[in-house]
Amino acid sequence: MGPPLFIVMRSEHCPKCTDLEGCRDSHLYVIQLKEEIADNYEKKSYKGYLYVGQTGVSVEKRGKMNFTRRDGTIVDPDLLYLDRKKPEDEQKWPEDGGWVYEAKSIPKIRAYFLKYRPDLVLPPFENPHKFEKEDKGKIDRYEGKLADKLANKGWRIINGVSWKKMKKRRNNSS
Ligand SMILES: [Zn+2]
Repeated sequence: MGPPLFIVMRSEHCPKCTDLEGCRDSHLYVIQLKEEIADNYEKKSYKGYLYVGQTGVSVEKRGKMNFTRRDGTIVDPDLLYLDRKKPEDEQKWPEDGGWVYEAKSIPKIRAYFLKYRPDLVLPPFENPHKFEKEDKGKIDRYEGKLADKLANKGWRIINGVSWKKMKKRRNNSS
């Protein structure tokens, strides 16, 4: 008998995370939405539509939470996509308040999820991000700056994350 075999799934979003266990540092992630989401916007993006987020757990774990029902069921994004094509009263998994995550932009992820884009977590924003006591706002700032960088390249950020906007808001309120 050889040595015991350990199968560890590596995260594609962080060199230190496995896909179930986070490395305890923070992570930035980018989700590309299906082109159909463009129907919701008057001003279209020629490049595409992205959600930019941050999480303290592994990106895989956080991703599963977006598709988890309150009863614990995890719905496959492709099955959910087909379900959303049905009339609302025939849908098995509508936006009925039965999801663990209800925050504003999350229903858009459920409706239009295409894929993760770890390749768009551009330098110098690569994961993981250590918590710094002296700089508590670091991960928010990085998230906003990454979003601005992608927006400058022509992507539309569907959850409104932006360091420029954050700064403006802060200046206006002081
Ligand atoms: Zn990690």
